Amino acid sequence: MPHRTILSMRPLRDAGAYFRSTVLRRLALFLAVALPLVWLFVAHERGQLVQIARDESNRNVRNLAHAFAEEVRSSIVTIDLSLSQLRLSWQRNPEQFGAIVSELNAHLQGRLHLNVVVTDADGQLVFSSIAGAAEHIDLKDREPVHTHLTGVPGDRLFIGKPRTGRVSGEWEVQFSRPILDGDGKLVGVIVAGVAPTYFSRFYHSIDLGGSASIALVRNDGIVVARTTRDLTMRDSGKLLTGYPYSPDSGPGGNFQRASRMDGVERYYGWSALADYGLLVTVGQSIADANARYVQQSELLVYTGAAVSLLLALTGWAALAAADHRRRGVVSLAAAEARWKLALNATGEGVWDYSFDSGLVTLSPSAQGIVDAESTLLPFDRTVFTGMSHAEDVPAVLHALDAHLNGTAPDYTAQYRTRLRNGNWRWILARGQVAERDAAGRPLRIVGTVADIDARKMQEEQIRHLAHHDILTGLPNRLLFGDRLRQALLAAQREEHKLALIFFDLDKFKPVNDSYGHAVGDVLLQQVATRLRTTLRASDTLARLGGDEFVVLLPRVSGAGDAKKVAEDILRELNRPFMTEGFTVHISASLGVAVYPDGALDADSLLRCADTAMYEAKLLGRGRVGVHAVAERSPLELLPTERDAA
Ligand code: GH3
Ligand code: MG
Repeated sequence: MPHRTILSMRPLRDAGAYFRSTVLRRLALFLAVALPLVWLFVAHERGQLVQIARDESNRNVRNLAHAFAEEVRSSIVTIDLSLSQLRLSWQRNPEQFGAIVSELNAHLQGRLHLNVVVTDADGQLVFSSIAGAAEHIDLKDREPVHTHLTGVPGDRLFIGKPRTGRVSGEWEVQFSRPILDGDGKLVGVIVAGVAPTYFSRFYHSIDLGGSASIALVRNDGIVVARTTRDLTMRDSGKLLTGYPYSPDSGPGGNFQRASRMDGVERYYGWSALADYGLLVTVGQSIADANARYVQQSELLVYTGAAVSLLLALTGWAALAAADHRRRGVVSLAAAEARWKLALNATGEGVWDYSFDSGLVTLSPSAQGIVDAESTLLPFDRTVFTGMSHAEDVPAVLHALDAHLNGTAPDYTAQYRTRLRNGNWRWILARGQVAERDAAGRPLRIVGTVADIDARKMQEEQIRHLAHHDILTGLPNRLLFGDRLRQALLAAQREEHKLALIFFDLDKFKPVNDSYGHAVGDVLLQQVATRLRTTLRASDTLARLGGDEFVVLLPRVSGAGDAKKVAEDILRELNRPFMTEGFTVHISASLGVAVYPDGALDADSLLRCADTAMYEAKLLGRGRVGVHAVAERSPLELLPTERDAA
């Protein structure tokens, strides 16, 4: 999958169409390979069925042809025996011959009826068993008579071509023998006519389907008798050409062809009656032969169709599933690529913790951020507590528990982690449970970690700048206000006193004027440094602006305490300063105000101290003024003090 596709976000509908066309293309390819195989198999199996039908049919028609040949042979033997018998009777007793023929036909009981004709040596009719036959009919041109009169001499049976008997007027096959005297000289011909149906009566006892045919054919191709379901006889006497057998082909065999008589395509079996110059054929139409396998053949087609459909459906399902999986993998890869890109951009690392194994897996950048020895580490609350800043641990565990027990949607915590060199680093950890068991217990939590040390430092700097004076680094008016209010609350709560010492450097402007502004700046810094060492850690020294400072003494026993501290400050300030190579002498005027004696709130207390300082200035500078404690309650005192200011 090209990278372009991973990151490009197609509209959803386009993606669906793309998905379908891809699956359809693959399905078509799959079916193009699979379906020909299925149908080749079906065609092969159907071919096998046709083969089986052909073999079976060939076997049947060959066997039937042999049986039919035997039947015909015995019929001819019967006819020939009768003919020889009749000839003898004729020679012995011509007067009784008519009665003998009738008697013979009666004996045959209708199974066979012989029309008997006798000619003299000239082929003139001398006897006919057919009642009312005319005398002196010339039969010498008739095939049997003609054959004996002019053909090969000797006593042999001749089987004529079926035709309408000139005497009987009936359609018959004529069997004839010569009548010879004691010297073997031909004195006449005896002919027995038999209905051709006699030879094909066998047809009705066979079951080869509606289009079967049986035929008795002379070696010269003349059809002696032929029967199909609908027709008997019609084709008798016709000449067949192009038979795929000959008198030399052997006793029998099979062939297949479209009938010369009715055009039906058949499997044929044939059997020769060599001694009579005849052969029989039995044919079964290919359609009939195949008929018994039609159901199997159709079943094969249905099976092929069902398998094709099944292949198409399962192919579709499998390809769709595969495509779905592939698309899932691709979108997962895309999502992974996106979050990796995002994480790389932010510089965050990834961690993955398994509650089962108690191991945390770190991405290389996460390893770098927490300065871990390896990317796979044992981890639990004890390990965490050991490597994290004690001040931060409770908040982190609280946030973690809130997420693990479902109160918080995710886990976010900022804390300091110890690096291998012993330094602390601020980090921001975020996480979410990725897997829970059936009971809802977390199994896995994954998240990110970021180095926020620089940010924390910046925040600290900004906070410091907002609360401190840039020149001296002392708390500014804002921070001092906070501290004063905190201290007032504590004093109020604990019922003790606090004091403010407000002071302004005396004649500071002239320092600037004489030595320059830069020297003035350094002097202000030196004032701050000197006084910080004079004061207690719990006292707050702040610069309110210009050359004005204030000191908060959070706990004093009374104004006397504060006045003493103010005098210490004054003494320190009166000591000369060595500033930029100059010895500078300054002093200050200080004003003291005490809570709750002077005022109860921050602003008022500050104003009281300011007033006391102002009075010290008025009295000649370089001194401490203490805010006078009113006889009235502090609350009543405030407006009077404001007026004075
Ligand atoms: P006073 O004895 O009445 O207090 O008079 P002063 O000369 O000290 O003047 P005042 O207190 O009225 O004004 C303070 C002067 O301090 C004004 C200004 O020139 C100077 N000043 C204020 N801020 C700074 C600063 O940041 N650096 C320097 N070098 N001088 C400052
Ligand atoms: Mg001043």
